[in-house]
Amino acid sequence: MPDSLKARKKFWELPIGELNDTEWEMLCDGCGRCCLKKLVDNESGKLFWTRVACRYFDQETNNCQCYKERSAVVADCVDVKKVLEDMPDWIPPTCAYRLRSQNKPLFKWHPLLHGSSEIMQNLGISIKDKCISEEYVHADGYHEHVIRWVED
Ligand code: SF4
Ligand code: SF4
Repeated sequence: MPDSLKARKKFWELPIGELNDTEWEMLCDGCGRCCLKKLVDNESGKLFWTRVACRYFDQETNNCQCYKERSAVVADCVDVKKVLEDMPDWIPPTCAYRLRSQNKPLFKWHPLLHGSSEIMQNLGISIKDKCISEEYVHADGYHEHVIRWVED
């Protein structure tokens, strides 16, 4: 892309592959949805989301408690970069990375557009106060906590 055109665009409007590391991290809206456990039907391969959150998801701050080591600490922690292309369903439909990888605009509530996470919290995009830690749910009981995204 010519530099003149790039200069006119906000980084969240650029092709996702052109973002530098800082821009990539800033694109995350902090919703925490990718930290929810998923179930896969062995026969159909269908993916189901649950409201069960990873034990390292801090529900007070809406942050990962082991972000730098997350891949080593949690085997099924989704690597967004790796799944975007082949398994986008493993990323929530509102996720900024999924949207931009499909060349779709961010939702208006995204903190980068709105200036704060307040409206996003009010709209219930964040999983804060809506999830339950895996510490309190036996893996055999995840199916009792299946959810669906209204945005799907
Ligand atoms: S779902 Fe996407 S935007 Fe939300 S916390 Fe995960 S990576 Fe960030
Ligand atoms: S390790 Fe961190 S980023 Fe990964 S699923 Fe758990 S809370 Fe989310």
